[in-house]
Amino acid sequence: MLNKIIQLDKDISNKIAAGEVVERPLAVVKELVENAIDAHATKITVEIKNAGKSLIRVTDNGHGIAPEEVVLAFERHSTSKIRTINDIYHISSLGFRGEALASIASVSNMEVITKYTTVDYGKKLVLSGGKIIENLQVGAPDGTTMMVKDLFFNTPARLKFMKSNNAEQSAINDIMTKLALSHPEVAFKYIVSGENMFITPGNGKLYDVILNIYQRQISKNLIEVNFEENGIKLEGFISSLDISRGNRQYQIAFVNHRYVKSKTVEEAIGTVYRTLIPHNRFPITFLNIQLDPSLIDINIHPSKTEIRFHQEGVVKDLIYKALRYEINRYDMTPEKPLNSKPIENKAVLETYHEENKKVNTIKTPVSSPRSENIETREIREKTKVLLDSYKKIHEEPVIKERTKSTYDSVKPSQPLKREPLVREPVIKSQVHEVAQPLLATPEETIYDHLNFIGQIFNSYLIYEKQGQMYMIDQHAAHEKILYEKFIEDFRTGNMMTQMILEPIVVNVSKMVMQHAMSHEVLFKRLGFYIEPFGEEALVVREIPAAFNMKTAKALIHELVETLDFSLPSEQFEMMLDSLASKACKAAIKANDKLMTIEVQALIDSLKTLNDPYTCPHGRPIIIKISRHEIEKKFNRT
Ligand code: ADP
Ligand code: MG
Repeated sequence: MLNKIIQLDKDISNKIAAGEVVERPLAVVKELVENAIDAHATKITVEIKNAGKSLIRVTDNGHGIAPEEVVLAFERHSTSKIRTINDIYHISSLGFRGEALASIASVSNMEVITKYTTVDYGKKLVLSGGKIIENLQVGAPDGTTMMVKDLFFNTPARLKFMKSNNAEQSAINDIMTKLALSHPEVAFKYIVSGENMFITPGNGKLYDVILNIYQRQISKNLIEVNFEENGIKLEGFISSLDISRGNRQYQIAFVNHRYVKSKTVEEAIGTVYRTLIPHNRFPITFLNIQLDPSLIDINIHPSKTEIRFHQEGVVKDLIYKALRYEINRYDMTPEKPLNSKPIENKAVLETYHEENKKVNTIKTPVSSPRSENIETREIREKTKVLLDSYKKIHEEPVIKERTKSTYDSVKPSQPLKREPLVREPVIKSQVHEVAQPLLATPEETIYDHLNFIGQIFNSYLIYEKQGQMYMIDQHAAHEKILYEKFIEDFRTGNMMTQMILEPIVVNVSKMVMQHAMSHEVLFKRLGFYIEPFGEEALVVREIPAAFNMKTAKALIHELVETLDFSLPSEQFEMMLDSLASKACKAAIKANDKLMTIEVQALIDSLKTLNDPYTCPHGRPIIIKISRHEIEKKFNRT
């Protein structure tokens, strides 16, 4: 049975962060829509006129408000959603402070029509500036309509502070987009000044929401993510490497179906795409993270969306692995269309056929983007099945622990304590029940079965495979191999070093010296053996094998000068990590004379890379030119 609306006692209501609920029309929209979602509505219509200043109307088909509780719902601190302060930390419904309706009503002319599911008549309440003008019994369909007119009519100061219609309207559009995206199970109809802005089907498929809100250019370039580990579920869509944006506006994240901002999520996404898309560009992501609500700190101020995860490392690691895995699954050679290459590993195929003999129904994979044709969809489904069987062959996860050092303090293998979610995820049936172990990359890489044709300009290797021509930039490839080796060696503590004849002396302050020596082990991991030299200098006797004296000198100076030694060790290590990769990129660039390499050895090394597609500076290593394109050049098509 639904909770009755009660008034919170003073103590509780005071503890709840105070603050203005309604500063702008967008806040009204958000509160009303969230109430509708909380009322289990499956259809919500939102109508806006004059940027919300003259009308905001939200109609839902939820459970409605019981007749005897309608008046109470408009009193401050009345809510059916919390009982004690502890509930706040476990709350899974959206609004929880019990003052939205009261606040909105107090600054507008409001009209409510609501019919409670189990009662056969409805209620209509008309309020002006919070005072009830009419309270009637009416005939009404199930659900609730909240109509807010003349917002801020009685608070001229606030009215004056409102931004232009354009600005207010686009803020409302933004919040509506996020609400619709975070609730694919709800059919939204969003109307602005009589015009349909978007309609979502409410079929639980996030992809269909994206398709209805954004242009095709975005929706057709998305890769699906669906992953679960340690009781944390990650699902959604991320952009392929073909599209990106100039800012993070298209990086949308939800936690337990609630729109959030999270540095952790941003950083994880950034790390994944850093070497894959140009500098200063951002991927498009729609990601929903589901986890036990007690494992996050939600900021209880209603207008703020920042959250923190208790175990940031675990979440970051999970996002990194899942995204990386999905991106790697696609053949990322530029120009290659998405979804076009199934995995062809023989062992996998055999197991696949075996499995098929045993079970004659293949588990249907999660929703496939509508834009795919049947053929690519089939390939996708097959790929999914192949991967499922593949992971059965390899019981233990194959992924290299690239980020291990960062997350040493947490034990990812240990399941998180699970308390039942208060709100059950609605699209359960479409979610994988099995946690997917990770594969670093599918067994077969783009570099397999390449037929070497020759080399041109002393720089490019040419290959043929399956009616396509491939070209490898051997310098870019070599750079990347060195780079990944350096990073790998650093992370696993296997850095190759070289003794130097003439030690490097670095002058430092007493403080820096003490701190540096306390991090001696980390310097060693980077390949620098440091010792104190008097009270205000460090001496370096061994340097990484990959560096010459000049770059080693530059790097050690940069390390000592820019590292913030006051950071807690985990963060310090992260910073060192990013400095190491930056420094290595610089070092590689400086060593412009790369060794002459043996062609096959180069290809073999490329196969083992985590990211064999771009050099450390982001340029492609391999490109593909199709037969079709070549024929076009000869006017054969
Ligand atoms: P809160 O959402 O924090 O509980 P509100 O002021 O937003 O506080 O709403 C007060 C109460 O009114 C809610 O707890 C809920 O019981 C009821 N209510 C508000 N909007 C709706 C709706 N659209 N459908 C059903 N009940 C609603
Ligand atoms: Mg509310």
